[in-house]
Amino acid sequence: MLGVRVGDRRPAVGRVADAGGRLRALLIAPPGAGKGTQAQRICAHFGVADISTGDVFRREVAAGTVLGKEVASYLDRGDLVPDTLVGEVVRQEIQKALDATGGYLLDGFPRTLPQAEAAHAIAVDMGIAAHAVVTFDVPRAVLLERLMGRGTSDGRSDDTEATIRHRLEVYDAQTAPLLDFYSGQGMLVRIAADQSIDEVTKVTIAALEEAMH
Ligand code: ADP
Repeated sequence: MLGVRVGDRRPAVGRVADAGGRLRALLIAPPGAGKGTQAQRICAHFGVADISTGDVFRREVAAGTVLGKEVASYLDRGDLVPDTLVGEVVRQEIQKALDATGGYLLDGFPRTLPQAEAAHAIAVDMGIAAHAVVTFDVPRAVLLERLMGRGTSDGRSDDTEATIRHRLEVYDAQTAPLLDFYSGQGMLVRIAADQSIDEVTKVTIAALEEAMH
């Protein structure tokens, strides 16, 4: 995928990426771990599209689209948007990313087991496979400190204390188990992300370059 190592599964038809190709990776990390910041830097380095499901949903809400109206209350509460609404959005974004840049970094997807299954199905349909799944390890106290600070500085409506705590609980319950799953597939790259922004970028890029070879 997405969940399959390059070379494991090569459908006879459809868009088959060459074994190397541009970076295709997933980024799974808790709120406050620095996903958004690092995703931009990693994508700039590898020349691939940054697909942030959180950003996609926030744009839809801001634009007042039908999808935006459906997802707004989930975002405000810090709950996950239902899997059925996420899968189609991601499929379209991946297709756009591949057409535009030949690769992608998925930032914030998958977050549940059904989403991981959807990711797998999309990859098989498109004849692609991810090089790696990256996660950022950051102590809980540091996450909380960063998130509380961010709410006052960038004004995200889901960065209030109660919502932040809830998003972390949702991460632990629904998303963290995916790390064992990807680790079992030999795809997981763990980055100690309680370091400077530059250091995390450097270490992550090096790990991804390694995973692509
Ligand atoms: P953070 O990880 O800091 O909470 P994101 O921008 O990744 O920020 O996500 C913000 C919100 O967008 C989530 O709380 C959730 O409501 C929604 N969201 C983003 N990605 C997904 C996803 N893959 N599945 C369901 N909901 C999502």
